[in-house]
Amino acid sequence: MDRLQNFMAGRNGADHFFRFQAAAALVLYLIGLFAHVRILNLLAWVLLAWALFRALSKNLAARSRENALYLARREQVLRWFSLQKCRWRDRKTHCYFSCPKCGKTLRVPKNQGRIVVTCAACGWQFERRT
Ligand SMILES: [Zn+2]
Repeated sequence: MDRLQNFMAGRNGADHFFRFQAAAALVLYLIGLFAHVRILNLLAWVLLAWALFRALSKNLAARSRENALYLARREQVLRWFSLQKCRWRDRKTHCYFSCPKCGKTLRVPKNQGRIVVTCAACGWQFERRT
């Protein structure tokens, strides 16, 4: 056990991005196995090799940047799914649209006629029919 600890000392190890890569490699491998698509198996091995390279790498600054980028992207994806869930839940009572100035998603009540909407993020005002 000491030999493994000594070997892993100063290396990146299993971070969030490593776990995602390993899980994605497993899923790709299983799909390729059952669908008989060899390119997916090859992709799974490449992804696993990349994950292992990252886990064993001693360039902690670069691996930390990659992990932070992955976490930021994951947060964007989770936020998008959360927004879709809210849109579906409020589909009968509220309208969703983007602010023409800053692009922030806004929610206003439905069936109010023409209303002046003020963006909460940038303060831009514009008219919309709901
Ligand atoms: Zn705005």
